[in-house]
Amino acid sequence: MSNAHNNDVIVVGGGVAGLAAAVALAGAGAKVTLLERRPYIGGRAYSYEHPAIEETIDSQHVVLGCCTNILDLCQQAGMAGSIRWYDELTFLEPNGRRSVLRSGSLPAPAHRAVSFLRAPMLNLRDKAGIATGMARFLRGYPVSDSESFATWLKRTGQTDRAIRHFWEPIIVGTLNDTFERCSLKYAGKVFHESFLRSAEAGRLGIPAAPLSEFFTPVADHAQRKGVDLQFRAGVDRIEQTPDKRWLVHSGSESYATSSIILATAFKQTQELLASLELSTESNARRSADFEKFIAAPITTIHLWYDRDITDLDHAVLLDTRIQWMFAKSRIRRWPAQRGSYLELVISASWPELKMSREQILASALEEIELFFPMIRQAKLLKSGVLKEARATFSVVPGLDAFRPHQATQWPGLYLAGDWTATEWPSTMEGAVRSGRMAAGAVTGDTGRFMAAETPASGWMRWLSRI
Ligand SMILES: Cc1cc2nc3c(=O)[nH]c(=O)nc-3n(C[C@H](O)[C@H](O)[C@H](O)COP(=O)(O)OP(=O)(O)OC[C@H]3O[C@@H](n4cnc5c(N)ncnc54)[C@H](O)[C@@H]3O)c2cc1C
Repeated sequence: MSNAHNNDVIVVGGGVAGLAAAVALAGAGAKVTLLERRPYIGGRAYSYEHPAIEETIDSQHVVLGCCTNILDLCQQAGMAGSIRWYDELTFLEPNGRRSVLRSGSLPAPAHRAVSFLRAPMLNLRDKAGIATGMARFLRGYPVSDSESFATWLKRTGQTDRAIRHFWEPIIVGTLNDTFERCSLKYAGKVFHESFLRSAEAGRLGIPAAPLSEFFTPVADHAQRKGVDLQFRAGVDRIEQTPDKRWLVHSGSESYATSSIILATAFKQTQELLASLELSTESNARRSADFEKFIAAPITTIHLWYDRDITDLDHAVLLDTRIQWMFAKSRIRRWPAQRGSYLELVISASWPELKMSREQILASALEEIELFFPMIRQAKLLKSGVLKEARATFSVVPGLDAFRPHQATQWPGLYLAGDWTATEWPSTMEGAVRSGRMAAGAVTGDTGRFMAAETPASGWMRWLSRI
């Protein structure tokens, strides 16, 4: 114990949640050490140098205007300018037909109404069903997460095409699982925040740099605030001392602290907590709670061509396995002579987990040609497939009851991570919120570090109860 380094707070995990917690507490004057087992920060929001193709790759992460806490963190770190903002979403059909949903001059919630009514991907009946469905989210979304989005779609009589061309790309793309495994509460939240609340809340933001580069200013900002960032410092065990302080063991090092924030994913948190449980009964109960969390996969396909093959920076692809196309060379403003770089995203990619990379690539190349015929003239220079088996957790109906609060039954021990109780699905925004809530709980005021929500605008100022 006498050899242990002394701290006010130890944060375990340098993902977005851990960084947010560390920055908040260091900013409030605490002596903070952050222990990360990997050699880089960002956790799941990372990029890396692919050795075989000699390119830096990541799985494209996006934010929305309503993600006020991550945007606030970026602002604090001086990186708000490294997000590219878009006010329109293009939906592409395999025949190349485009439907563009954009914000116009009408007040919210009607700001996208004109483009929606013009969208050729849906007929009048589909649109009427979507409009009546959307109207149910005008005031907000259910407080309870007991119903699935699948039963709601049936209950509200959505047409097959409305499901395929509207509800599915949005919900599978944002909540990353099938309708049965997404609760209506979080689906409703997505539509209320990004389609109805205000044009500002629904803007799409795309980091203009590979993720590790994108998040480096946050790590620098944390260090400037005094956070001691330790890499390759995996925590093996935590232990409560008789005087109710904590010891954190990482390899041959031990850290003494009055507070710990475990900002790790649910699987690692479960392992670290297991050693604290006094009885096998309470261990079994906690274990059963953790079993309720399902990790869902995302697969991304990366393609480098000798020329530009589209005039779009990004698009939703309809009637295909691929949900999103990001033209990263355009988003990153590459000069034309550098060729082009495309990322294709397959959310909820359970079938792809069982497929070989060659099979995934072959199928994606076949599909993508239908959307972008210019590909036939272009030369494919390089390609890569990235499977993230544990990309997000699924907001299955009823999960809220098992998402733990940031303060725990052990004084001085706090939890953070996108999977904790934040009222957000598995996102960077949820992660930052959890980190800030945990930091607030350490200081005795959960709301202390939270950014303000995006205000409702137009008629939504009176309609929205959120
Ligand atoms: C392919 C993919 C696409 C995604 N797309 C989006 C998107 O478009 N928009 C969006 O908002 N979100 C997206 N997400 C989700 C987003 O990445 C996560 O919600 C968020 O990054 C979670 O952050 P976290 O800090 O809670 O957890 P993590 O990122 O999992 O961080 C946990 C950290 O703890 C460290 N750790 C674990 N155990 C230990 C230990 N024992 N000792 C020390 N360190 C430890 C890990 O190495 C890791 O760095 C996507 C995720 C993936 C994988």
